[in-house]
Amino acid sequence: VTCRELTAFIADFVAGELPPDTRLEFERHLDVCPNCVTYLSGYQDTVKMGRYACGDDDAPVPDTVPEELIQAVLSARSKSSQA
Ligand SMILES: [Zn+2]
Repeated sequence: VTCRELTAFIADFVAGELPPDTRLEFERHLDVCPNCVTYLSGYQDTVKMGRYACGDDDAPVPDTVPEELIQAVLSARSKSSQA
């Protein structure tokens, strides 16, 4: 594979959805191309950050959330479950 092909397949590679032979070609290219290794790790970081931003992965509530807001959300929740 070329660098261009690698970037085209990177989403499938990270998702583990590449066919085994394509995946092998992919990894072989990563062995010889530091640029693509860097690109891949940057891509994975971006995917991780995107997941946290979307609230997946059971991301912990940031310390910056004010206590009043948490209480407001909790009381709104209990009210709607009683109704
Ligand atoms: Zn490359």
